[in-house]
Amino acid sequence: MAALRRDTLRGRLREREPMARHTTWRVGGPADRFYQPADREDLAVFLTMLPADEPLYWCGLGSNLLVRDGGLRGTVVFLSPGLTALRRHGEHGVWADAGVACAKVARFAARQNLVGAEFMAGIPGTMGGALAMNAGAFGGETWDVVTEVETVDRQGGLHRRRPDEFQVAYRQVRGQPEEWFTGVLLALEPGDGEEAMERIRALLDRRAATQPIGKPSCGSVFRNPEGDHAARLIEEAGLKGLRMGGAQVSEKHANFIINDGTATAADIEQLVSHVREVVQHKHGVALWPEVRVIGEEAEHG
Ligand SMILES: Cc1cc2nc3c(=O)[nH]c(=O)nc-3n(C[C@H](O)[C@H](O)[C@H](O)COP(=O)(O)OP(=O)(O)OC[C@H]3O[C@@H](n4cnc5c(N)ncnc54)[C@H](O)[C@@H]3O)c2cc1C
Repeated sequence: MAALRRDTLRGRLREREPMARHTTWRVGGPADRFYQPADREDLAVFLTMLPADEPLYWCGLGSNLLVRDGGLRGTVVFLSPGLTALRRHGEHGVWADAGVACAKVARFAARQNLVGAEFMAGIPGTMGGALAMNAGAFGGETWDVVTEVETVDRQGGLHRRRPDEFQVAYRQVRGQPEEWFTGVLLALEPGDGEEAMERIRALLDRRAATQPIGKPSCGSVFRNPEGDHAARLIEEAGLKGLRMGGAQVSEKHANFIINDGTATAADIEQLVSHVREVVQHKHGVALWPEVRVIGEEAEHG
């Protein structure tokens, strides 16, 4: 790719940035370019400078991403800290830029005596990632509370879109393939902020009791099949604790794969494939990964 005219950019551009620094699994090879825009205008300028065929990746907190060891050929856009505004909007609304952490939105809403966003407290990603994944927990899903989103296209043009312009399902959102999220307007209910904070604390306690929080992971690796739980199928297939290299099926929650600190992305990917094969063989159920796998395998030489 021709050199970018850096003098016109106000954000931070890094080259050969290790993606292991930006994923919760703590694995992943280097991205050719990694850009943190200063704000929306700067993001637009950056996008217009990119060649039309430049592969473009958007990364939130990397809490649902497996980046392969060979890294990413192309450019990664990372919205923090440039797009992290969070404010009250009218009587029932909260505006969040896509780079804001979901947990921050949950607490902010509660402090504003608005309820309905508590479930976001345990999702360790950004609003951009939550919109892309329709992230959810404890009965709540991101798009249940969305009234409008702001997106940006490859030319840097901003769009305001309604939820009915997207097809939203369980951990799946389609609709505007060449646009990415820059912000969201949430519609919440007026309520008791103290009670909302109490629900947040209870929900975090439940997570800590059932999930291997604090160990590098990507949360649930597989989507739950209709009417069942991936964790149950994996546990009953006898796979809890199974290791491949530095990757291990968690002893605490069978749908989590943890990195013991030495795993490569290849170890994790191999373990994911193995779990799928064994569950298919033992239960006749095809598990589909919830995590997004991107990038190139490392070259062996
Ligand atoms: C310990 C743990 C617990 C978890 N618990 C839950 C849970 O309860 N419920 C749940 O749903 N998930 C859970 N997850 C998974 C993860 O947190 C969610 O999928 C989250 O929404 C991902 O957000 P992110 O910002 O980290 O996105 P990333 O992982 O960085 O990206 C995920 C996808 O979103 C896309 N994306 C990111 N930002 C944008 C943007 N601005 N515009 C367009 N696309 C974008 C990326 O390109 C990628 O395809 C958990 C993960 C961990 C590590």
